[in-house]
Amino acid sequence: MNEHRDTGLRLTPQRIAILDCLKGNKRHPSAEDIYRVVRIKFPTMSFATVYSTLAVLKEKRKVVELTIDAGKKRYDPETLSHNHLICVVCKKIVDAATSDTPRLRGREEQGFKLIASHTDFYGLCPGCREHYAGQEDNYVCRS
Ligand code: ZN
Ligand code: MN
Repeated sequence: MNEHRDTGLRLTPQRIAILDCLKGNKRHPSAEDIYRVVRIKFPTMSFATVYSTLAVLKEKRKVVELTIDAGKKRYDPETLSHNHLICVVCKKIVDAATSDTPRLRGREEQGFKLIASHTDFYGLCPGCREHYAGQEDNYVCRS
């Protein structure tokens, strides 16, 4: 219970369940995904509680809100800047192995002081590649 103390949240059992669900979670879950998990242990928990807890965690920079999927915000407990691979069919999001990002130099920076960047790579995940094997041109892009 103490491991989440540095979140600066008032730690109710429900909030701890949400933090536990996020901890080390590499699946970039949506609020709905998290709700589905925590509801097993806390059947009376409302979706609003999950959503408001995520908003507080985001504000405290304990979780990153990903807006890659326009229809559904996704959440990443890895707050260090990193790149993602995104399946355009099933919306699976995984961390890319490289943290290399395109570099801007000189005039390309247009006077900005750069503080962060990340790159999104789009494609078909292994499962969707298999599903659409031989008919890659027919896949349904859900964006
Ligand atoms: Zn996929
Ligand atoms: Mn990530």
